[in-house]
Amino acid sequence: MSETTTMRPAPRARVKAMPEYHPPLGSRDALRLDFNENTLACSTKVREVLGKISAGALTRYPERGPVEALVAARLGRRPEEVALTNGVDEAIHVLFEAFLEEGDELLLPVPTYTMYEIYAAATDAKAVTVLADDDLAFPFERLMAAITARTKVIAIANPNSPSGTSATREQLLAIAERAPQAVVLVDEAYYHFHGETLMDLVGTIPNLFVARTFSKAYGLAGLRLGLLAGPEELMRWVRRVLSPYSVNSLALACLPAAMEDTEYLDWYVADVLAARTEFEAALDAVGVRRWPSRANFVLVDIGARHAEFVNRMRAEGVLVRDRSNDPGCEGRVRVTIGTREQMGYAGEALERTMQVLGAS
Ligand code: PMP
Repeated sequence: MSETTTMRPAPRARVKAMPEYHPPLGSRDALRLDFNENTLACSTKVREVLGKISAGALTRYPERGPVEALVAARLGRRPEEVALTNGVDEAIHVLFEAFLEEGDELLLPVPTYTMYEIYAAATDAKAVTVLADDDLAFPFERLMAAITARTKVIAIANPNSPSGTSATREQLLAIAERAPQAVVLVDEAYYHFHGETLMDLVGTIPNLFVARTFSKAYGLAGLRLGLLAGPEELMRWVRRVLSPYSVNSLALACLPAAMEDTEYLDWYVADVLAARTEFEAALDAVGVRRWPSRANFVLVDIGARHAEFVNRMRAEGVLVRDRSNDPGCEGRVRVTIGTREQMGYAGEALERTMQVLGAS
């Protein structure tokens, strides 16, 4: 055999070393309290727009500019400061591609959203993690101390997942000030349930980026729609990396209707927040430790029988997410909060499940 026939294409060494990530998306025909999605539906206004899209409209490449300008105006930002993305995941990906090179450090408080480390692994930078204490509070002091001249990106989900805890505005600003050489990404995927934001400071803090998603409160996870806001001078580099077509025309068509229907959004968020309080009471009643949450999910401590808990809840028709493999999360399970009605059922399923676990 000649040498050429035995040769094979090989990925970059970095890619070979990347961890595999396969979120459990199969067989989810149940009460979906596992991915922090909207558990009900998107606005009916969005459904109407989808129904009116013509076959001809789909023959065109999507034009993101006008929708980007509309979203920017709604957020009180200039169009140059906002880019729509294929979910926040793409925002994270392009930001890391634009700013991380060999020898650089990505600084992360952990546990946190998995995709930061995955996308960092595809770059030549090193991820530096700061583990939260047992209370899972934002490890502000230690994160500040971990900033070095090599820190080029600091990614902070606020509120954080899977913990549900949050950082204060003052803490985030102090971090941005301490690391002027670094991009500080504040990922506000769960903003609507928290109500606090740094969006108003985009453009005035030279290294601050804020990300938002339409996958959670808006109920559009399937459309893949997110946004990244940052200072104009830095957004220029992000746009060089971003595909001009990554946000598809169905998503672009639906976005204005989703944003306009504030009535539905407000109703959904209020119902989830009321449901969270009620479900927290149900957890307390059965003696399950929980962490305080500012988002549409609650992290709970099940202990050694976490896998059995998840399976028994599934048998009850309720999907929840085992986070035991996250740093510092052994035995912990994350439960998304849906509507009051759904969480009423989830509370009953929890009670039955804990009775069985306690009895056996
Ligand atoms: N950031 C955080 C903190 C998340 O929890 C998630 C989704 N689980 C995302 C980003 C991804 O959002 P999107 O669906 O917009 O890619």
